[in-house]
Amino acid sequence: MGETVAIRAGRSAGASARSSQVADASARSVIGSRIAIREAAKSFGGFHAVDRISLDIEPGEFITLLGPSGSGKTTLLNLLAGFQALDSGEILVDDRPIHNVPTHRRGFGMVFQSYALFPNMTVTQNVAFPLRMAGVDRATTERRVAETLEIMRLSDHARKMPSQMSGGQQQRVAIARAIVMRPRVVLMDEPLSALDRRLRESIQIEIRDLHQTIGSTILFVTHDQGEALTMSDRIAVLDAGKIVQIGRPAEIYRHPVNRFVASFVGESNLIEADIVQKRGTTMTLRNRAGYVFNAESRDAIDVGRATVLVRPERIAISDEANAGSAPVTVTSALFLGEVLRIEARMEGGETLLIRCSDTAQRSLPAVGDTLHVSWGADDCWVLS
Ligand code: ATP
Repeated sequence: MGETVAIRAGRSAGASARSSQVADASARSVIGSRIAIREAAKSFGGFHAVDRISLDIEPGEFITLLGPSGSGKTTLLNLLAGFQALDSGEILVDDRPIHNVPTHRRGFGMVFQSYALFPNMTVTQNVAFPLRMAGVDRATTERRVAETLEIMRLSDHARKMPSQMSGGQQQRVAIARAIVMRPRVVLMDEPLSALDRRLRESIQIEIRDLHQTIGSTILFVTHDQGEALTMSDRIAVLDAGKIVQIGRPAEIYRHPVNRFVASFVGESNLIEADIVQKRGTTMTLRNRAGYVFNAESRDAIDVGRATVLVRPERIAISDEANAGSAPVTVTSALFLGEVLRIEARMEGGETLLIRCSDTAQRSLPAVGDTLHVSWGADDCWVLS
């Protein structure tokens, strides 16, 4: 394994979408490592921060660890990085255990939220630093730094000092420094959390492109579900030191395994309903208001009652009653630009959150208005 490039990103901002076509041959040749985490455990004074987690990560995969504060994301990343030692279990990188390999020899690139660039070095010197530490010759260093600055669209800033750059540009320098060694694994711990929303979104796309370009295996930690959905090949949702669900973003969003995942990833309506009929994985249910609807579930659930997830954007609204609709009373209505956000009460007292596109045909309803809502079997999901 090569030298670790332990780089923490400075605060950042600024950015524009970057084309991945600037990749150079050496960048494209990087193939990410396979990582196998087996029953990894770490406790602090009897508290299980990481509670026997197992996770297989494919070479070149972009995996996001998503979870609320304190769920163990950073601890798991620290175990991978070697900043902390496992209590039990093991971590294999390309089939080799790494518990005896010190951090600086794991060969991982790292970007953290709050690790400043060297303020007294130019951009070029910052990015060249890991190569210098590894004793790479001058010509190779110059070529590799130039390639990496090009990938991160920083070539025009090569001679600047960090203080002469925007936060977003500094962040890109930090990422450049983390990937200049072409690491097989890159660990990123909330690298975008200090940015405002627009900058975050544009750097998300840059990191996504970068991943396509260099092919490293990336482990990305965030508590921002939008970020996780946008960037990841797969998302591992953590709660209380355990992975509660792992899957592709659409799978996690559409088919969460439980209430926690349904509520944490995206906005949700969780409707309690009685099961009227079951046909395989399709069910007919009736909620407290007497609204009868169909829903899909992963397994045929063998109970009389179920909790059904209906995403706010899957609820259809109409001014007129029609077959299969239920009346609701508007309790709040907000114009958010591209969408209307409406809260409404069903006759049984349940509150529904509805998001619908702003169209010329629909004006913002007033509080107290009656609307008629409906959703189809494909629009909802029975939580097991
Ligand atoms: P956040 O999003 O807030 O960073 P996280 O999911 O990354 O949270 P961790 O930092 O992994 O969570 O912490 C998991 C739990 O372990 C927390 O309850 C935390 O207080 C505890 N913990 C982490 N590191 C230590 C430590 N060195 N000593 C004691 N407790 C710790």
